[in-house]
Amino acid sequence: MALIDLQKITKTYQSESVAVEALKGIDLRVEKGEFTMIMGSSGSGKSTLMNIIGCLDKATAGHYYLDGEEVAGFSRNRLADIRNETLGFVFQSFHLLPRTTALENVQLPLLYSRKDLSWKEIYRLAEEALERVSLKDRMKHTPNELSGGQKQRVAIARALVNKPNVLLADEPTGNLDTRTSLEVIELIQNLNENGLTILMVTHEPDIARYAKRTVRLRDGQIENDEYHDPLPASKALEELIHDKSETQNEEVVS
Ligand code: ADP
Ligand code: MG
Repeated sequence: MALIDLQKITKTYQSESVAVEALKGIDLRVEKGEFTMIMGSSGSGKSTLMNIIGCLDKATAGHYYLDGEEVAGFSRNRLADIRNETLGFVFQSFHLLPRTTALENVQLPLLYSRKDLSWKEIYRLAEEALERVSLKDRMKHTPNELSGGQKQRVAIARALVNKPNVLLADEPTGNLDTRTSLEVIELIQNLNENGLTILMVTHEPDIARYAKRTVRLRDGQIENDEYHDPLPASKALEELIHDKSETQNEEVVS
C-alpha cells in the first residue's frame, strides 16, 4: 500500500471573477522510504500539490489516501493531529517565530501534541531533534542570530520533533546559497537514508539530481515521472569546497 495515493486530484481556486485550475487531475503514488522531488516552473502547481498532500488545503475533486485512509473523511481534530504528528512541513521562508529561541521553536509542535508529555520530556525531545540537525550548540539562539542554513535546520528539527512519517519541504533551499543548499540537502538525504519518506519541491533542475525520483509538473499536470540514482550531496559539497580552496590557492600564488 502506498503511503500517499492521489487519484485524479484537481484544485480550482475561485476568486470573484476568475477560476484558476491549479491542478488538473493528478495521479501520484508515493511509497514509504522514497525521496521524491516535485519540479516545475513557477505557477505549475507545486505548492498547491504540497498543500493538499500536507492537509493544509483540500482538493476540489479526486481522492487522497494517506496510509490507506481517505483524508476527506477525517474530522478537523484528526486533520490537526495529522498535520502536527504524521507530516512534517518545511517552507522556503522558514516560518520560525522571531524572538523565540531555536529550542522553543522546536518545542512548539510538542506543546500542541495530544501526547501527555512532561516539560522534561518536551525539553529532551526538542534537544534531540536539534542534535539531529547538528544545532544543539545554537539552541538558545533566536532566529535573527542564526544564518539562513541554520534557520532552515531549526525548521527541519521542528518538522521532525514529533517523528513524522513524511517530510514535506516546499523549496527549502530557495533562500539559500549553493553551499548552504547542499548542506541542507545532505541532511535531507541522511534523513531519507534513515527511512524517512521525503517529498520536496524545487524549480531548480540542479537540485532534483539529489532525489531518487523526479515528478515534473506543468500547468497543473504531471508531465514526467522518473526514478534515477541520486547524486550524494556530500560528494558535491566536497567538490565545491575543494574547487573553492583551489581558486583561493591560485589567488595566493598570483
Ligand atoms: P508553484 O508553487 O508551482 O509556483 P502554485 O501552486 O503556487 O504554483 O500556483 C499554481 C497556480 O494557482 C498559479 O496560477 C497561481 O497563481 C494559482 N494560485 C495559487 N494559490 C492561489 C490562491 N490562493 N488563489 C488563487 N490562485 C492561486
Ligand atoms: Mg510554490
